[in-house]
Amino acid sequence: SAPVITIDGPTASGKGTIAQRVARALGWHVLDSGALYRLTALAVLREGGDGSDEAQAARLARHLDARFESDTVFLGGEDVGRLIRQEAVGNLASRVAAWPAVREALLARQQDFRRAPGLVADGRDMGTVVFPDAPLKIFLDAGVEVRAQRRHKQLKDKGFSANLDDLLQDLRSRDARDRGRAHAPLVAAADAVTVDSSHQGIDDVVRQVLDLWSA
Ligand code: C5P
Repeated sequence: SAPVITIDGPTASGKGTIAQRVARALGWHVLDSGALYRLTALAVLREGGDGSDEAQAARLARHLDARFESDTVFLGGEDVGRLIRQEAVGNLASRVAAWPAVREALLARQQDFRRAPGLVADGRDMGTVVFPDAPLKIFLDAGVEVRAQRRHKQLKDKGFSANLDDLLQDLRSRDARDRGRAHAPLVAAADAVTVDSSHQGIDDVVRQVLDLWSA
């Protein structure tokens, strides 16, 4: 089957951007797995839920009417690309993502993104659970302060208001939840290459990943 490069790491480590750049350079497809958890969170919110009901979240995950286009995503025909990037949706996403039934409901859908000539998949468990046979696995890390600053800039650039201290706190609790959950915790796969992007620009990291692939 088609090769996969997995890029896992904590929130705001730059995974999404790196994955897109690497995919573009190789002419491959891309899977933003976090978007599926964010879409699930949005569907829960719209049913008036708060993420505490595993069966509800799993049902919504299983029946997500999601469509990905080059730079946005549709839920039931509505462009929600901007909406799902909001911090409130991201926070609820990390809560629903802790439910095993939700992860199970999204597993096959993620694996379906694997297509020739190849796939770059970013998330938390791409290398450990979803594509354990991927020939190249990257664990992209960065210090929490650096990530908070990047997220802050990103939100401001998109016209959202954001407070740096709040973001730092949110990142810390999201990290703790992603790393501490019992099911598919955020952890580097045993055969992953760890790349720390704290003191490297996007171009350097992209080059490093492409070098690893062609090595
Ligand atoms: O990557 P992103 O911030 O969009 O992901 C939103 C949330 O979805 C994360 O905080 C994480 O809890 C969850 N997630 C996950 N597994 C993935 C991708 C995302 O648990 N593969």
